[in-house]
Amino acid sequence: MTPAEKLTEASAGGRDGPECRDWTEVKKSLRWLLVGLRMSGVREWLRLPEAIARPAQGSSEPAEVEGSPPVPRIDKAEKLRDIREVIGECTRCRLHQSRTHIVYGEGSPDASLVFVGEGPGAEEDRRAKPFVGRAGKLLDKMIHAIGLERSGIYIANVVKCRPPGNRTPLADEIAACSPFLFQQLETIRPVVICALGLCAAQTLLGSTQPMGALRGRLHFWRGIPLIATYHPAYLLRNPAQKANVWKDLLEVKNILGSDVGKEGKGRS
Ligand code: URA
Repeated sequence: MTPAEKLTEASAGGRDGPECRDWTEVKKSLRWLLVGLRMSGVREWLRLPEAIARPAQGSSEPAEVEGSPPVPRIDKAEKLRDIREVIGECTRCRLHQSRTHIVYGEGSPDASLVFVGEGPGAEEDRRAKPFVGRAGKLLDKMIHAIGLERSGIYIANVVKCRPPGNRTPLADEIAACSPFLFQQLETIRPVVICALGLCAAQTLLGSTQPMGALRGRLHFWRGIPLIATYHPAYLLRNPAQKANVWKDLLEVKNILGSDVGKEGKGRS
């Protein structure tokens, strides 16, 4: 889909339909509509009078419309716990045979940004936490470089058990595990997703294209802007790609826009 087609889809209410009543969702939709406009070359915005641009004092949300049903509020933390419970002591694929721990993912359920990696490595398998090894240290630097804290974002992987010898997960392993990642993403519905490496990018985009073709462009996962970049482990082996990764991170930061720096540096 071209940026112009994405823009049209955004104007029409996106894949989530025009009936989106949750204010946070409306703000997100507007934000990626602006991203689309920016990509189409629009550089200047009309400024709304202050009274219209700002919600009533003391309120960050629109008032309920009289007579309409209340907006349902899902407890994201609870939903994430439910998904973890469904995974249980998973034996859905062969990766369970060699794992020490399931690495579910961690971070803020209200995260504006979710990083998606490939699968746990040795250290992650030992500690049941994503990105805590060497690649994780570099990811921490990347997170700080765009003005965020690890605690304000969310980090998950395509597969939740370590592939032996850190090999790339196989198609049937991805098929067995990725629905849980998708449920986590649907629950959080961040402002932007950053896919780290080819496995994450291809899985989320349902693509077989190489990273060279996937990075440097704005994608969408179920209506959420997605930026693909090189995996930190790849970056450790290929430091020449640092400049490209930095460009991708700036795009992530751009999409986050004014969200950065608010409420624990993770959410508007
Ligand atoms: N590499 C990944 O893709 N994920 C991790 O959690 C750690 C290393």
